Amino acid sequence: MILLDRVTKTYNRRGPALERISLHVEPKEFVIIVGPSGAGKSTLFKLLTREEKPSSGKIIVGGMDYERLNDKDIPLLRRKIGVVFQDFKLLNNKTIHENVAFALEIAGIPTQEIKHTVPKVMDLVGLLGKENHYPLELSGGERQRVAIARAIVRQPKILIADEPTGNLDPKHAWDVIKVLEKINRFGTTVLLTTHNQDIVNTLKRRVVTIKDGHIVSDRAVGHYKGV
Ligand code: ADP
Repeated sequence: MILLDRVTKTYNRRGPALERISLHVEPKEFVIIVGPSGAGKSTLFKLLTREEKPSSGKIIVGGMDYERLNDKDIPLLRRKIGVVFQDFKLLNNKTIHENVAFALEIAGIPTQEIKHTVPKVMDLVGLLGKENHYPLELSGGERQRVAIARAIVRQPKILIADEPTGNLDPKHAWDVIKVLEKINRFGTTVLLTTHNQDIVNTLKRRVVTIKDGHIVSDRAVGHYKGV
């Protein structure tokens, strides 16, 4: 599903943000990526979503070789990858329904199909009945689940969750993690970054540790002692 072969990304003369990173993620895997701030985690995600281009090395995602991408391939690539962030990035002047529907509208999906699809994803993230609320009327955990609903409404093959629980208390954090696990069970590959040791230790998933732009460990079932 995801293949990086000796990928280096250098932004400027201060040295590479990622250096000769090789990583292989199978379809339907759930991978936790840990590492201190500045390690290169977000850079890795930006390379996958093609917000950034590698300085060298090969990236293949879902059979698409990034060296051979044209501008017209980018929407298709972005459709394969959903992303959620620590700060939700919801539109606060739109209802929950409108936030999720918007992702379909901009993709040109017909109104009837949108009406049919949005309640299904709301149900999946456990927010059925909240569609007419505005983001600021919801808890942080609920808002993050709206962001997840929006990220998966077009059924991406991969979901990137970049520190999705960073702003949440433990109860809400777990509600979010459970939704990620559910999405993974339904067949989506999940990449999660977190600084929360409890989450890493409880999930018992593959853990990739990045430090100073290098993968320093890659464990099938990780136990995280902090970095
Ligand atoms: P993490 O997500 O693990 O905190 P990042 O990928 O954001 O790490 O950052 C890795 C390194 O790359 C850091 O040294 C950071 O300062 C640098 N960096 C990230 N983005 C940029 C950018 N757009 N321009 C220049 N340097 C950047």
